Parts: sequence; structure tokens; C-alpha cells
Amino acid sequence: MSKVLIIGAGGVGSVVAQKCAASPEVFSEIMLASRTKSKCDAIAALIKNRTIQTAQVDADSVPELVALFNEFQPELVINVALPYQDLTIMDACLETGVNYLDTANYEPKDEAKFEYSWQWAYQEKFKEKGLTAILGCGFDPGVTSIYTAYAAKHHFDEIHYLDIVDCNAGDHGKAFATNFNPEINIREVTQKGRYWENGQWVETQPHEIKQALNYPNIGPKNSYVIYHEELESLVKNFPTLKRARFWMTFGDEYLTHLRVIQNIGMASIEPILYKGVEIVPLQFLKETLPKPEELADGYTGETSIGCRIKGIKDGQEKTYYVWNNCKHQDAFEETSSQGVSFTTGVPAMLGAMMFLTGKWRKPGVYNVEEFNPDPFMELIGQYGLPWQEEINGDLEL
Ligand code: NDP
Repeated sequence: MSKVLIIGAGGVGSVVAQKCAASPEVFSEIMLASRTKSKCDAIAALIKNRTIQTAQVDADSVPELVALFNEFQPELVINVALPYQDLTIMDACLETGVNYLDTANYEPKDEAKFEYSWQWAYQEKFKEKGLTAILGCGFDPGVTSIYTAYAAKHHFDEIHYLDIVDCNAGDHGKAFATNFNPEINIREVTQKGRYWENGQWVETQPHEIKQALNYPNIGPKNSYVIYHEELESLVKNFPTLKRARFWMTFGDEYLTHLRVIQNIGMASIEPILYKGVEIVPLQFLKETLPKPEELADGYTGETSIGCRIKGIKDGQEKTYYVWNNCKHQDAFEETSSQGVSFTTGVPAMLGAMMFLTGKWRKPGVYNVEEFNPDPFMELIGQYGLPWQEEINGDLEL
């Protein structure tokens, strides 16, 4: 019987809360806390057959978090607020003896730079307290990292080439919108590209490397090499990798809007004065764009995210492709959410379940690929994200 506290009542938080509530045998008591309590209450109202508690908390404030943790006494916190809050929530966990799980690595508010160093620096502190911190347990990072660990364990003696391919072939009918928090999303996709090759990072201009890749059940889509956070931990944890890249599909319309947003300065995170008030253009833009959860109703099409891997097995070259396709409409029917929130929220719930059932319990701070992938891979299909695999097919890359 375990108590879990979910922080963040956005698109992902809604899916996590609903999915945890659907497994009362593991999640015996649930609290959903966020900056705006009314959003937590609206999510709680979606859950028909169970009552979950809700609370207001400013997750930038360690004292507020500590007070809430002491009052509710959760065994685990699932952090699905924003990457800016990772460290304050980890600090509060250490102070109160609570375990931790998140889906995105820390990023300072004033610099569009995300990397694991800040959170990896907590390794000894979590170890000393006997607490587990599970980093990056969404889809990517998350399932893609677990797919890689599964492939390395069962299909290869050495993995050499990893291409993570992320396609959203959905249509939400809006001229421009982002599928998760617009501020975080735009910071991520406007930065320079980066991939790992022969022991070092190779930097590219944003969206410089482009290739049409075929996605199962979808067909060819323009895909671009961008930097994505799981590459940092994967190249560290799988040192046989000669090359690791991350590809994401973008439509021409999306890229045109993005270019305009950048050219007119709206992607900037430098504060400016407007009528005597300091505003950050990107934060202002976020307020004018559709909220990720508003895209859900009527969103058609599907996502396809997977790992294409080349390596050696028993002295022979081998290829392996493992992926999941998720239909936005199915996600909506089950959780009133769109596919990107769904594909992030389900693994976060399952990672929490792995911890609470003792399968992923290891004091310290770990990325998901450092845990046994098998129990996760066994169950993820049953919770809504079934995977498929192809051995020795043409990877195109
Ligand atoms: P949303 O913007 O929809 O939700 C974020 C939530 O966090 C909001 O409810 C917001 O409150 C709350 N929040 C923000 N700041 C604070 C604060 N200081 N204190 C308390 N609550 C706060 O984002 P998403 O649900 O789309 O994304 C959630 C997380 O999931 C992000 O970190 C994102 O990067 C990550 N993600 C990971 C993916 C993966 O595959 N690994 C994919 C997609 C997302 P309010 O409602 O008041 O604004």
C-alpha cells in the first residue's frame, strides 16, 4: 500500500493521475498538487470511481514542498511540473525522506540549457539517505532509453549505432501549437542540433540535417536531427555506441511559424520592459498559444516513436527496430488527453509502479536505462503503449 504525490496538473499530470488511480492495488493513496489548485480539482473530477486529494503548492519553494511532503507523507513524488522545478523537488525529497521520479532533466529558467550534471550531482546525497531518484521516465527520455537497454540486453553483444526516431503524424487543426509545454518545447527545438559520433559531440545548425524517414503505419515524413536529453545518459551508459542521434519530424508549416517567432524575437528568454513591467517574450508567447491539453479533442492521426539500432550479435552485424505507435484519438477516449501527454504519462505511472513494487529500487540517482528493462517492457503494452519490433530490417539510416 503506497502513497504517491504527483506534482504538476498539466497535460502529462492529468494522464499520470488517471493512470495511477486506475491501479489502486499499487497506488493506495494519491495526491495531485500544482501551482493552480483548480486545475488539480478539474483532473480529480475526471476520475469517477476514486477520490484523489488535491493541493496547491509552489514547487519553486523548498519550504512549501517540505511542508506538503510532511503533511501527506508520500513514499514517492512523481514530478511532472516543469524542468525548472527538478532541483527544488529533489531538495525537498532529501529533507523529508521521499523517493523521486521525473520525465525531464533540470533546466535553469534564465538559460536554455538542459543537461543531467545538476541532477547527477545529487547521487551521493540520495545514496546516503537510502532514497531512489529515477530520472527521465516519460517516452523520450524514458521508453526510448528502456528500449535501448532492452535491445542491448537481449539482441546485441555490442550496440554501435542508435537512431531514436520520433514522429508525430497528428493533426490538431491549429495553425501553430506545441504538444507539450510551449515554453519548454520552443526552447528545445530552436537550439543547435547535436549528436554523438566517435567519442565526441558534433554540433549542427538548428534543423541542418534532414531526411525523409518511413514510419510504420504512417509512411515517409521529413525528420530532423535535434539534440535530445536522453543522448547524454545513453552514450555514458552504453560506451560501445559509435554514433547516437535523435530525429524528430516537423511539418513545413510548423517550421515556418517557428522561424517567424524567432525572427521577430518572440522566442527570446531575455526579459524586456513593456509599459514598465519586465516580461520574457517566450513566456508571453506561451500565454497566447493553445495549451497542450486543449489540443486533445478532435486530434487525429498518431505518433510513432522508436529506436533503430545497429550492432553485433555472435560476430554478425544485426539491426533492430523497436517502436510504439499511439493514436491521439485512443488517448483522448481513455484519458481526455492527446497522444503526447498520454505517451509521457503512462511510462511515468509505470516507472512509479516499478519503484513501488520493488523492481526499480536502488538508492542513488539513476537514468531509466540503468534499471532492469524487462518488467517494464512486460507491462507497458497492458497499460496502453504496446511495442513492436523488427529484426534485421532496413533501417534507412
Ligand atoms: P504543462 O505546461 O501542461 O503542465 C505543467 C504543470 O506544472 C502545470 O500544471 C503548471 O501549473 C505546473 N507548474 C509549473 N510551475 C509550477 C510551480 N512552480 N509549482 C507548481 N506547479 C507548477 O506541461 P506538460 O504537462 O505538457 O509537461 C509536463 C512535464 O513533462 C514537463 O517537464 C515536460 O518537459 C515533460 N515532458 C516529458 C516528455 C517525455 O517524453 N519525457 C514529453 C512531454 C513532456 P499551472 O497550471 O499553474 O501553469
